[in-house]
Amino acid sequence: MNAPSRPSLTSLSADALSARVVELGGKPFHARVARREVYERGVLDYSAMTGLPSALRDALTAELPILSSAVTTSRIARDRTTKLLVEFPATAPDARPSSVEVVHIPPHDPDSPKGATLCVSSQCGCPVGCPFCASGLEGLERNLEAHEIVEQFLHGRAIGPLSRSVVMGIGEPLLNFDAVQAALAVVHDDLGLGARKITLSTVGFPERVRRAARSSPRFQLAISLHTPDDEQRDELVPAMKGVPIAEVLAAGDDWFEVTGREVTYEYVLLGGVNDSAQHAGRLARRLASRRATVNLIPYNPTQGLGFARPDAKAAEAFRTLLDEAGVVATLRWSRGLEGSAACGQLRAGGV
Ligand code: SAH
Ligand code: SF4
Repeated sequence: MNAPSRPSLTSLSADALSARVVELGGKPFHARVARREVYERGVLDYSAMTGLPSALRDALTAELPILSSAVTTSRIARDRTTKLLVEFPATAPDARPSSVEVVHIPPHDPDSPKGATLCVSSQCGCPVGCPFCASGLEGLERNLEAHEIVEQFLHGRAIGPLSRSVVMGIGEPLLNFDAVQAALAVVHDDLGLGARKITLSTVGFPERVRRAARSSPRFQLAISLHTPDDEQRDELVPAMKGVPIAEVLAAGDDWFEVTGREVTYEYVLLGGVNDSAQHAGRLARRLASRRATVNLIPYNPTQGLGFARPDAKAAEAFRTLLDEAGVVATLRWSRGLEGSAACGQLRAGGV
C-alpha cells in the first residue's frame, strides 16, 4: 500500500478541506472559495485568491500546498504540442519520486477557437507489456491516485484551455479504475469537461469493461484491438493472453447496449505484422455487423522495439479495404512525433 504523502488541497475531500481551513483560522465557505478558484478558474497560487482573508492565504501557503506534483520538464514541439513531465512525490520513505508524461495538443489551426486535447496517464508504467509500446517497457511502477490524475488536467489547462481529453497516456486505465473514475468525476463536475469530450482507451478486459459500463462512466470508450487473430493478440497484448477476441468484442457490444455510446476500436498498424490485406479482411468480418468505428494508428517508432511503421500508401490501402467492407475507419497519424510525445512513445520517468 502507498504510504500517505503530505496532503495537498487536491488530495482532500471537500469536507476534509473544510475542516483543515477551519483549523487554519478560516470559515467553511473559504474552503469552497479555494476549491472553486483551483478547479473552475485554474488559480494555482493562494496569494491570487482575493476572496480569502490575507491571514488565511498566508496560512494555507505555509501549510497546505495546492498540488502534490510539479512539472519538471516542459517541451514544445514545432507543431505546438507540449509534453510535460509531471513528478509526484515518493509514496514510501525508500521510494523514488514517480513521474508521468502529459501531452497538450492544441488544434491544428492556430486561429481555431477550440481548446486543446490533453492526453493524460493513469498509471506510472504499465503492466500489460505490449511489445510495440514504450510505456510498458519497465512494467508497472505504481498506480496513480485520483488527485494525481486530476492534477495532470490542472497542469495541462495552465498551458491553455482544454476542449477534449484522452486517457491514452501511460498505463492501463481499467487496472486503476476506481482512481480514474474518481478523477473524471472531478474533471466533469468541477473542471467542466463533459463526458462526451473524454475518451478512455483500454485493452478491454471484458469483465472490467462490463463493470465500467454500469458505473455511470463519464467517458467514451476506445478498445485497443490491434489484430483480428487470437494467437497474434496473445503476442501483441500479453496481459490479455487466453482471452478470445470474441469476448472482448462482446464486452464492447455490452458497453454500447448499456451506455448507448459506440465503441472505437484502435488498431496500431505495424508494418509487415498486422497490416496485410488478409488482416483487413478478417478484421472487417469481425466488425461488419457492429456499430463501431476503427481508428488506425500507424506505429510510432521507438528505437530498439523492432517494429516498423507502414508507409502512407499501405496504411491508406488498409483503411480502404475496411471501408469497402462497410467498416468505418479513420487513419490517425499522431502529432507530437518529433518530441516523442506521440502514442506509445510516453515513458514513466520521461525520455
Ligand atoms: N493502455 C491503454 C491506453 C494507453 S495506450 C491502451 O493500450 O489502450 C494508448 C494507445 O496508444 C493504444 O491504442 C496503444 O495501442 C497505442 N500505442 C501504443 N504504442 C504505440 C506505438 N508505438 N505507436 C502507435 N500507437 C501506440
Ligand atoms: Fe500498456 Fe497501453 Fe502501452 Fe499496452 S499499449 S503497454 S496497455 S500503455
